[in-house]
Amino acid sequence: MAKELAEHGHLIGKSTINYHRAGTCKCTNPAAVDDRPAPAAPRAESGKVDVGPDGGEFTEIKTSEPLTDWTHIFERFNLDPEQFTIVDDTVRMSMWQQSKGLEDGTRDIVNLYSYRAKFTRKKQGMIDYATLRDQIRNWAPTPASTTPSRPPVTYVIGMADWQLGKGEGDGTPGTLRRLNASLEAITRDLDQLAAQGIRPEGVLFANLGDHTENVAGSYASQTHTVDLNMRDQLNLALEQNLAWLKALAPRFKTATYAACMCNHGQLSRGNGRDNVTDDADNATGLIGDTLATLCKLHPELEHIEFNIPRDEMITTTTVSGVNMAMAHGHKISGAEETWLAKQSQNLVHTRRFIPDLWFTAHRHSAAVNDYGPYTRIQATTVDPGSKWFTDSTGAYSRPGTTTFLVGADLPGMWDHYRIH
Ligand SMILES: [Zn+2]
Repeated sequence: MAKELAEHGHLIGKSTINYHRAGTCKCTNPAAVDDRPAPAAPRAESGKVDVGPDGGEFTEIKTSEPLTDWTHIFERFNLDPEQFTIVDDTVRMSMWQQSKGLEDGTRDIVNLYSYRAKFTRKKQGMIDYATLRDQIRNWAPTPASTTPSRPPVTYVIGMADWQLGKGEGDGTPGTLRRLNASLEAITRDLDQLAAQGIRPEGVLFANLGDHTENVAGSYASQTHTVDLNMRDQLNLALEQNLAWLKALAPRFKTATYAACMCNHGQLSRGNGRDNVTDDADNATGLIGDTLATLCKLHPELEHIEFNIPRDEMITTTTVSGVNMAMAHGHKISGAEETWLAKQSQNLVHTRRFIPDLWFTAHRHSAAVNDYGPYTRIQATTVDPGSKWFTDSTGAYSRPGTTTFLVGADLPGMWDHYRIH
């Protein structure tokens, strides 16, 4: 009977027949209907299920309300809703209308629905996609270790012969461009060293002199070719030095700034090349003294130790166990090898200092000489070059900033020689 009615669109469930037989159904006792609690969710009146190990399919699920939550459908067929999930794009629905008797004896038109859908067994161990996605979006590299690596080494930077104010070639603007390129290359070099696990314990800013060009006394037409006056040369040199200290010093546990007296830095030239006062009256001294004062006021730079000579032409410092002797180079006379040997002997006697490595400048070109007891490294520069020098010799030098590592445990006490 139920089947026959269903084929005509009249849905009769087993409970309806039971109610009818008990005489409590609407057709015999309309009041009885009101005593039954209203269903909280659309009830499936009938349907079929076909279940396999990985899922199955519901067919002919007939309800009086649209179906959005399938939980009670699974429960109706004794399936755990936590174990299965409806495959969204397999849901099919048809709807039709049917006349329904109301409590007051009139009739109304109601909507009825029939559904079919496939479902699958939920995969065990599935994890939340949003969490995975957020992990990707919020990823950041593990901060690099700042602990110095072994063996201890110091990164040495030759700040040499910038000659700010020199108007030849592309002049001071060209020098500044090359200085910026050098600083960027040095920063990349430090990053690459760190990626290899090499983290120097310290940095040595070696001011090898001639940061300013001066305005007279070096060569015949100097006053007419410089592109900055003395005040601007000194201020620019201070700015440039400070920029390098700020960019690099905070990367290191220890930092040393050691400076060398120089020829272009002579501040009180009379009519000749020499100071009318004394050797201490030098731009390198003024720049070093001012930087030392400035850095004490800056929390990230106050760890820099300054080694600014008064009028000594050789500056000595020890970093990572290596005794370094530095000189601008303008005082070298005769054969350089002999000069270095005599000065080394002098340092042993007067300062009880045995040089492991000499670092010089002034000649603007790259050179590395192994003299046995010590190596001499000659720093390059980023100045605009010299027409006079090229005209006279045919030679010119690769512009750049010389850097290398020193450490008492390194072979020959130095390594990683670069021109940036
Ligand atoms: Zn010089």
